[in-house]
Amino acid sequence: MKEGIHPKYNKKAVITCACGARFEVGSTKPVMRVEVCSNCHPFYTGARTRVVEKGGRVERFRKKYGR
Ligand SMILES: [Zn+2]
Repeated sequence: MKEGIHPKYNKKAVITCACGARFEVGSTKPVMRVEVCSNCHPFYTGARTRVVEKGGRVERFRKKYGR
């Protein structure tokens, strides 16, 4: 068997959430970004309304990625 056919499995991939929370999970990617995690999910419905009121965050995200 050749090496490198299978993606490397990281037992401690660092997941960074949009809320700022970080936690480690097993993943084929060493680093991942998510918008919702177990930390902020219970507040997701309420937080969504606040984000709409603020507005700027989404706008900045769009500019950064040219959309
Ligand atoms: Zn989160």
